[in-house]
Formats: sequence, structure tokens, C-alpha cells
Amino acid sequence: MFPTAGGQGGPTLAEVGEFGLIDMIIADLPDRSDVLIGPGDDGAVISVDGPVVCSVDVLVEDVHFKTQWSPAESVGRKAVAVNVADIEAMGATATGLVIGFAAPPETQQSWVLDFARGLRAECQTAGVALLGGDISRAAKIAISVTVLGGLGGLAPVTRSGARPGDVVALRGRLGWAAAGLAVLGRGFRSPRLAVQAYQVPDVPYGTGRVAAAAGATSMIDISDGLLADLGHLAERSRVAIDVARNAFEVPDTLQAVAAATGSDPLNLILTGGEDHALAATFAASDVPEDWVVIGSVSGAVDEPSVTVDGQAWDDDAGWDHYR
Ligand SMILES: [Mg+2]
Repeated sequence: MFPTAGGQGGPTLAEVGEFGLIDMIIADLPDRSDVLIGPGDDGAVISVDGPVVCSVDVLVEDVHFKTQWSPAESVGRKAVAVNVADIEAMGATATGLVIGFAAPPETQQSWVLDFARGLRAECQTAGVALLGGDISRAAKIAISVTVLGGLGGLAPVTRSGARPGDVVALRGRLGWAAAGLAVLGRGFRSPRLAVQAYQVPDVPYGTGRVAAAAGATSMIDISDGLLADLGHLAERSRVAIDVARNAFEVPDTLQAVAAATGSDPLNLILTGGEDHALAATFAASDVPEDWVVIGSVSGAVDEPSVTVDGQAWDDDAGWDHYR
């Protein structure tokens, strides 16, 4: 079992040291038949069958998360979730991950243990093995997660395969993380469901592979906002995508946040990032159960585009890391 985290004023990373910390993080990981050599050697060894899908994501304190807005455990969970979502978006199943972790020496050991507890919990939920990692000192907390996944004999689902005549379908939530961020940014801690959605995205684990098996022609996870990410699909597939406004129900929570923050709830849904739902294109007859059709693909366009009911959506479309 993982040691219980101490309170404020417990030992810092400088006092515990790198090796003590690694020992605590990797203690008692569950056995898996596809992990031949786990953490503790110079490299982990996993058994793979066919092509390997690989993706990396970096989370930096005060850029991607603030410690006062996200408890350490949820930072750990999010670090796993956002990365596994990328593997799902290829139509693959995530099998294992390695983590790079850097933090200031004065960081409380308890923060790191809570972070590691979240990391391990989300690995469990996502069915992913924690294969190993490395720890360093840095001016701020920085987390890099690399995930590996397998395709199970299917072709990868890329961003470039959308075809004119396809429909666009969605699995997962939209607007919730943006709603959480909007209230946290104004100094509130509620609605709780929105705040929690910002802290840990609800990734629809396993559904990327379902989409691939059903014949998805293209797929992406929604990290930057629906319209921005569909823009990536349109660009890579050289098509036009039109989204139907009435395909979206506005949940009461988003309605409440929009009212309290003077924003348009549909804008949260269409442009809010970080929910990591999956959007994919299919032939109309191939849409899997539990996916919601939200739009259509047309082609032969001079310029790839994404419209809402045939019109450009003129609000700030998604998150650009350098803006
Ligand atoms: Mg992605």
C-alpha cells in the first residue's frame, strides 16, 4: 500500500531524496502479464503485438495547472487521462506509460505522494501499466507522460481520413472543464461538478477502439475545444465540417455557470477545451451506439472549414498555447 500522505509541514523532496521518492511511487504496482520487466531496472520491457502507438504530453505548473485550483491527486489523474485520450483518439488501447517528474526541492513530500496516488488510480481506471519514470529538481512542477498503446490488429484512425458524406459524431462531455476553469478563475469553488471536470477530465476509456472497430474514418480528442479540434480534422482531411447547433443539449450546470459568468453556454460547449471527449467521422450507417451525431462532412472545398449551422462561429475558437 501507498504510505499515507503527511500534512503541511511534512518532509520536503530535498529531505526525502530522489530514490526514496521513486521507491514510494512504484511500490506494489499490480502484476500484469504484458509487463515483462517493470520499474526498477534501466528500462521496462513490455510485450507488444504489432504496431505501437506512442504519444507524449507535458503539464507545467502555472501553465497547465495551478496547485491552488487542482489538488495534487487530481493533477496526477489528469496527467494520465489527457495522455490516454490521445491513444484512444488513434483508435488504440493504451497499455503502459512512463513519467518524467520535476519539482522544486521545497515541494512537500505529501504533495508528491498525493500526486502519485492520483497517477496510480487513473492508471488503474484506464487499464494502463505504470512502467517507470524519472525525477529531477526544477523551478516549477513539470510532468511529462509518454503513453504506449496497441492497435489490436486494426488500422490507426488518423485525422486525415474524413470523407465528404460522413457524419461527425461525439462521445463524451464538452464545456465542463471550461465551465470549471471559468468559476475557479473568478475565485469560486462551485458548481462542484464543473470544478471537478476541470480538475480531472472524464475520458471515455475504451471508446476509441470501439470507434475504430466500427469503421471511424478520422478521429481526434477534444483538447483545444470542439471547433478548433474539428478544424484540425478538416485541415488534415481537406474537407468542410458543419456542426448542428441543435445537436447539443445544454446541461443545467453549464447553464448556471454561463449565467453567473455572463457567457454563452453554447460557447462553452463549442470552444471550451480540456474535456477530452472523442470526435470522429463515420459513414452514417457506422456510428456506434452511445455516440451522438453532431454534424456532417462535405468536400470539394477551396479551404477546409468548420461552421455552425452553415455560419462561421465568430467567438474565440479554442485554446492556443502561445496566444
Ligand atoms: Mg489529442
